[in-house]
Amino acid sequence: MGLLKDLDQTGVAEIGADLHRFAGELFPICRSITGDGVRQTLALIQGKVPLRITEVPTGTPVFDWTVPKEWNIRDAYIKAPDGKRVVDFQKCNLHVLSYSIPVHATLPLRELEPRLFTIPAHPDWIPNRTSYYKEDWGFCLSHHQKLALKDGEYEVCIDSSLEDGHLTLGEYYLPGRSTDEVLISTYTCHPSLANDNVSGLTIATFLAKLLSGRELRYSYRFLFNPATIGAITWLARNREAVSRIRHGLVVTCLGDAGGFHYKKSRRGDAEIDRAAAQVLRHCGEHFEILEYSPYGNDERQYCSPGFNLPVGSLMRSVWETFPEYHTSADNLDFIRPAQLAGSLRACAAILDVLEDNCCYRNENPYCEPQLGRRGLFRSTGGEAGGQASGEEMMARLWVLNLSDGNHSLLDIAERSGISFPKIKEAADLLYEKKLVSLVTHGSDGAQAPLVAPSGAA
Ligand SMILES: [Zn+2]
Repeated sequence: MGLLKDLDQTGVAEIGADLHRFAGELFPICRSITGDGVRQTLALIQGKVPLRITEVPTGTPVFDWTVPKEWNIRDAYIKAPDGKRVVDFQKCNLHVLSYSIPVHATLPLRELEPRLFTIPAHPDWIPNRTSYYKEDWGFCLSHHQKLALKDGEYEVCIDSSLEDGHLTLGEYYLPGRSTDEVLISTYTCHPSLANDNVSGLTIATFLAKLLSGRELRYSYRFLFNPATIGAITWLARNREAVSRIRHGLVVTCLGDAGGFHYKKSRRGDAEIDRAAAQVLRHCGEHFEILEYSPYGNDERQYCSPGFNLPVGSLMRSVWETFPEYHTSADNLDFIRPAQLAGSLRACAAILDVLEDNCCYRNENPYCEPQLGRRGLFRSTGGEAGGQASGEEMMARLWVLNLSDGNHSLLDIAERSGISFPKIKEAADLLYEKKLVSLVTHGSDGAQAPLVAPSGAA
């Protein structure tokens, strides 16, 4: 489809700066699984793409779960005996145990201590803790802050509300020629944590923008929902749309300096699994392919046995494995423009594979066609009159040889070791020269892609 090509015309440095700037807008918002932080986040994303917002009332049953009460917070602090705020929500929203019930009390330090969470191994960092499904309250602070607390009476205040309200879902649907869908899913429930998951929100938003206004083979559905309960709620309310999902990707933790990790779908051999592996193999960055496990993000819900959707997950460092995970050190310095841009490029390249993957048939299958007579020993991309590179020639030979109507371009890329865009370029050229024809059923049941030979210069 040429998403990657279009992206690269802008330049990686400029894209990286744009991505990081948007991440900076999303970062300060205090998000949780419900509440105004989610709404503010979706409003910012709506500035880029027109989301549809759905509010699902508290108490709504969704499979084995129930939509929880809505949580909102205005302020929170701990005041020392001298009246000074020693822990202040206004300075960092991680300071409050997320979903803390309202409290205003004065109590001695020893009674407060069990409600204070720190990370002794990283004494300057503030942890991020939650208590969604058990009513509780508490504060998170750096270990140094805690050690500085002297005996005495402390005033604690959490000006929050936990009441009947709504769970807020955000969705962006882009129709393509086929009603078969590609799902891109990310989560909106984390407060000021940059890699997990402001980076995922940013990448999904820019990817949606990149797809907007294009002629698409597939229809695309972008989900911006709170993790777990949001995905469960969406799945429970959208059974019909679910049946149209052909490929899916959960995007998260895509801004840190680590190499890529792709976690396969439960199926393990879905086209998305192969497309992601194919792109990462040729992306020039370190990468690792991980087998499916029922632990992780929303792929757990999409890949539950009742759905068993072909949904994998693209990350850089894997959640929980980096020390900064769920701490104040996962900040805007921890995510980098170049890595965000590289992540968007990888996502675009994966969608290019899905959009362009199809089967051709060699119209001249008895022995090799005479390529020289058709000018196919000449380079298409290089200087006029230059020889086709070894790889270009090999790509043409592979496409001719494997195009028996049963091998897709992705099959050919995998078997030849040549990147998908090079194989696609060869197929476009051979199509233009009428040496191959398109097999319309495609490898995945979706309508065939548009044929717009990029070799037709
Ligand atoms: Zn997380």
